Amino acid sequence: MRIDFHTHSTASDGTETPAEVMRAAVAAGLDVIGLCDHDTTLGWVEATAEAAALGLEFVPGVEVSTRHAGRSIHLLALWPSIDDAAFVQMLAKTREARVERARQIVSLLAEDYALEWDSVASKAEGAETIGRPHIADALVEAGVVTTRDTAFDDLLGSDSPYYVPHYAPEVGDAVETVVEAGGVPVLAHPGADGRGAVVPDSLIEALVGRGLVGLEVDHRDHSAAERERLVGLVVRLGLVRTGASDYHGTGKQNRLGENLTTPEAYAALQAARR
Ligand code: AMP
Ligand code: FE
Ligand code: FE
Ligand code: ZN
Repeated sequence: MRIDFHTHSTASDGTETPAEVMRAAVAAGLDVIGLCDHDTTLGWVEATAEAAALGLEFVPGVEVSTRHAGRSIHLLALWPSIDDAAFVQMLAKTREARVERARQIVSLLAEDYALEWDSVASKAEGAETIGRPHIADALVEAGVVTTRDTAFDDLLGSDSPYYVPHYAPEVGDAVETVVEAGGVPVLAHPGADGRGAVVPDSLIEALVGRGLVGLEVDHRDHSAAERERLVGLVVRLGLVRTGASDYHGTGKQNRLGENLTTPEAYAALQAARR
């Protein structure tokens, strides 16, 4: 059984619609496919219908933006209830903060480049969550850079003078909110080395105390040494080891199915639902 539940659609910063991601999952030979769009569940309804029509099992998820000690941490929430007010409000608050932050980044960039807010807004049309990839797409259209990747390398990275952070809930609070909503919290790419900012052992240990269930060990942004560290934590703390593509359509190099979650780990995640 081939399982890949961390992917993105046009509901956030992916380039394919939820239905297109489901069809791409069939082409990639997947049996279980999920959507974990950033801070939104908008894609779930369309994906659920298309997955059912295609005979795929669909995992409804969200990649929740969180923070800790000034750094950004991504948290996957699998199967959370959208009837849980605290969970829904947590996402809405972050989405609103993202709009203001995108405007700030665009004003900074507009001092030096021919970039307009309307162009960024049109790149985010149809998405419920705006992010730097939409600004990247507008920069490509304006001819400032050639791809999303070069936009991040040159102008949008967290070390860039044009970078502005956005509000996000404290990671421990977010873990608890996901659990309260009946969801299963899994840290997304905790060993991804954005400016040396991997999630440290001590914080992962503390998050287990708040209800953390899994670690996304198998992800393309992890070095062999990071995978080894994370596997050690999985064993020591009794966590579930997951893996996924973090597919963004043509917006990133990541290919569907390039990393997978084993059926045993998937069963353990399902057993953690309540
Ligand atoms: P934001 O959510 O606005 O902070 O932007 C972060 C998002 O940008 C991540 O979720 C990635 O999907 C995307 N991203 C980060 N680095 C790159 C890159 N080098 N190329 C394309 N997309 C990227
Ligand atoms: Fe993304
Ligand atoms: Fe992420
Ligand atoms: Zn992601």
